[in-house]
Amino acid sequence: MKVIRSLRAMAAWSDELRRAGVTIGFVPTMGALHGGHRALIRTARLQCDALVVSIFVNPAQFGPREDLTKYPRPILRDRALCRKEGADVCFEPTANAMYPDGFQTTVSLPPIARRWEGEARPQHFSGVATVVTKLFGIVRPHIALFGQKDFQQSALVRQLVEDRNLSVKIIVRPTVREEDGLAMSSRNVYLSPKERIVATTLYKSLRAGADAIRKGITDVASIQTAMAQIVKQEPALTIDYLAVCDPRTLEPLSLVTSRAVLLGAVRLGSVRLIDNLLVTAPSVRA
Ligand code: AMP
Repeated sequence: MKVIRSLRAMAAWSDELRRAGVTIGFVPTMGALHGGHRALIRTARLQCDALVVSIFVNPAQFGPREDLTKYPRPILRDRALCRKEGADVCFEPTANAMYPDGFQTTVSLPPIARRWEGEARPQHFSGVATVVTKLFGIVRPHIALFGQKDFQQSALVRQLVEDRNLSVKIIVRPTVREEDGLAMSSRNVYLSPKERIVATTLYKSLRAGADAIRKGITDVASIQTAMAQIVKQEPALTIDYLAVCDPRTLEPLSLVTSRAVLLGAVRLGSVRLIDNLLVTAPSVRA
């Protein structure tokens, strides 16, 4: 496995392979790799000839009071995981190379980025859309993989690719969870042992919402109450949002009559947890 840090070297590697007709798969990450990333890398490995994993803690997607400087960076362990899973390149650009003096152009955001994470983290999606556009321009993959864990982010990436006519196929893979249901996340290492136990409550709350829908409850206010009741049992948790949305537009629903996505974000000490579940109303499944 090659470790490439230079943008020019990365682009040259991809250009050469593209000319030779090789299919390039790409998994963009911020490192501190876990089972969720591993699942994306494994799926990518099966669908392409050459595989690039990027590790870049993108400063543009962190707010001023967020954890950019303390974000975990176990680079040797990350490279070992990439190597073991068969990546051909681990692309590790520097922030200076990605955002040199004079860097100006950012990407304007579609309406699906406005609510939820967009509201809670004001510059976040602008940073995500900008870095994804840049990485696609450098790596020029045929296929790129993202996780459902960041549901709104993957919806944004799909929209970006569609609206900008980028010729890359986006694949979104299901959320990988710990045995107790907690969605794997690089930020879970911040949780104290006590917080780690409480952290599963978000998933339980989404499950309660999904169960209500499966039982035939269509009224969103009741579904939200079912979700909030679970979270409120844990005084250490503060709800950012628990939403029931149209999975395509991410606009809130008032009635669930077909498919819905349950989106949740809670704060637990200094950690912010997000998770989601896709649900189909029984009337549609029948
Ligand atoms: P990150 O390193 O957090 O920027 O994540 C890189 C990619 O991995 C994104 O597409 C995430 O959605 C995806 N990802 C993160 N956690 C998980 C998970 N638990 N299951 C599946 N994909 C994930």
